[in-house]
Amino acid sequence: MTVEARKETLGFQAEVQQLLRLVAHSLYSHKEVFLRELISNASDACDKLRFEALTDGALYEKAPDLKIRVSFDKDARTITVADNGIGMDRQEVIDNIGTIARSGTRQFMQKLTGDQARDANLIGQFGVGFYSSFIVADKVTLRTRRAGLGPEHGVLWESSGEGDYTLENIDKAARGTEVTLHLREDEAELLNEWQLRSIITKYSDHITLPVIMPVQKYSEDKDAPPQIEDERINQAAALWARPKQEITKEEYKEFYKHVGHDFEDPLAWTHNRVEGKLEYTSLLFLPGRAPFDLWDREQRHGVKLYVQRVFIMDDADHLMPRYLRFVRGVIDSNDLPLNISREILQSSKVVDGIRAGSVKKVLGLLEDLAQNDAEKYGKFWKEFGRALKEGPAEDYGNREQIAKLFRFSSTHTDSSDQIVTLSDYISRMKDGQDKIYYITAESFAAAKNSPHLEIFRKKGLEVLLLTDRVDEWLMSHLNEFDGKHFQSVAKGALDLDKIASEEEKQEQKQAEDQHKDLLAKVKEVLGDQVKEVRVSTRLTDSPACLVVDEHALSSHLERMLRDAGQNVPMSKPYLELNPQHPLVGRLKSESDASRFGDLTNLLFEQAVLAEGGQLEDPASFVKRLNALLLAMG
Ligand code: ADP
Ligand code: MG
Repeated sequence: MTVEARKETLGFQAEVQQLLRLVAHSLYSHKEVFLRELISNASDACDKLRFEALTDGALYEKAPDLKIRVSFDKDARTITVADNGIGMDRQEVIDNIGTIARSGTRQFMQKLTGDQARDANLIGQFGVGFYSSFIVADKVTLRTRRAGLGPEHGVLWESSGEGDYTLENIDKAARGTEVTLHLREDEAELLNEWQLRSIITKYSDHITLPVIMPVQKYSEDKDAPPQIEDERINQAAALWARPKQEITKEEYKEFYKHVGHDFEDPLAWTHNRVEGKLEYTSLLFLPGRAPFDLWDREQRHGVKLYVQRVFIMDDADHLMPRYLRFVRGVIDSNDLPLNISREILQSSKVVDGIRAGSVKKVLGLLEDLAQNDAEKYGKFWKEFGRALKEGPAEDYGNREQIAKLFRFSSTHTDSSDQIVTLSDYISRMKDGQDKIYYITAESFAAAKNSPHLEIFRKKGLEVLLLTDRVDEWLMSHLNEFDGKHFQSVAKGALDLDKIASEEEKQEQKQAEDQHKDLLAKVKEVLGDQVKEVRVSTRLTDSPACLVVDEHALSSHLERMLRDAGQNVPMSKPYLELNPQHPLVGRLKSESDASRFGDLTNLLFEQAVLAEGGQLEDPASFVKRLNALLLAMG
């Protein structure tokens, strides 16, 4: 079959266009990173070839020595980065270079404001990769051929980084990809050996493949013209295999940017060589910031797996549980076979062992940060705390250790900052208090002002204010910490007896007896809307509140599930009345049946609203409220 040299012009996906426009301007102050990105991609492409060649050796085309070559041409004003990795076919070029096939990209782009400093930050977070070429180039030419296809299956892609690009079929004998940057007029300073060499050493020294540059070599004979010879520029040794004390912070950071596909420095890392039953090395990083796709199921770039320094696979998700999906880095095993597949990985005892050990290392790193660098830990918590909260459900065995890392806001903090640890809480527990009290709500304000907190405030008992979406889920899996049970202040009968005085208990009993008739009348008015009406032990300032059963979903979670389109059966709440409140007093003495009905409904409805709930019939509520307001005048 002959391949026609079909040349076509295609438009970039709208998001790509927008990104390109911003890249050149916003990232100019870090312009030399383009080379790091191209070398990083070349290295990834060689890794991918190695992985595919595990099952199809022919892909090497008898040239198994993988390398990356960086060269420049002063006269043509070009820099070229070439690799003999996996390469791309025509469709892959369209998909990988003309499109950003990541879900959430559009929403991400909408966050861009046009404010350069801010956008540069965001773009860094997104990771511009290949497109960083356009920081220094006004035209980029990419020639590529996929490993295993004949030389006539080459593809030429070219663009000046504006609205479109061209694609053409070409002959390309050498497997892999070659990217040529046609530099902008004012970038000529990049066109010298010393410059490129120093950029490569600074940013790409850790690349495990040789990075080669043709350099001028003078012979002994001073009159002889210089010879051009290829020279390896980088160390080309696996960074993680080197002794820790010989690796500089800068080297760790640049290595992270490559494995993490991140533009920013990592927050912290842990580098370990494990010996004994299992032998492996792990180098694991915490990113400085959550990637924009942290909440995507399809999130890419996890931990890379190597076997005896040989790259095996990317995103080896069996090496990290989901709640630690933000961890980046490499694990290099001496025990796994070189031809391990994803399937084997899933059921390998060795992998289970490595994973358990690596999780411990990450949790240890976090513990260390939490203890010794509160500022850094605060940053971590803000970015990844919500992911970590998935931990107790997913990793039951480590739940105590994970829970120690949690930070909450509480009634003892002034702001919504999450800074209270469970140990802090326990150290402040009152005599006789045996539970850790918490409330879940949609917002900090809703939690902090909830009527459910009144009695706790009065008694000086601390309550954790949980306002992240994942908190409900967390609390359904975290039953206790340090031997103390968790108790929602909005659920079940509050068992504050141990903390209550004899006098208080007496009063409670009396109140219940005195209000028996009232409670029955209120229940009659509200009918099926409530399960039962009872005297509250929770309230001091508000007249009424809603409470659900100990094991029922909280009304907050019920709403969340319903919002998510789930068919959740309505659970009926209890209505609790505060006998000390004047409105309840009025209700008790109200003899007019219709006014009694209105007042009862109003009490119920305001309790629903205070919970953050929605009224079934808001118009009637407003009517009742207005009637009451008028009656006041
Ligand atoms: P990332 O490296 O984070 O995936 P990039 O923008 O750097 O993002 O690259 C986009 C995609 O283009 C890569 O994922 C890869 O599929 C493809 N690509 C880029 N450079 C090369 C290359 N040298 N060889 C093969 N594919 C490449
Ligand atoms: Mg890249």
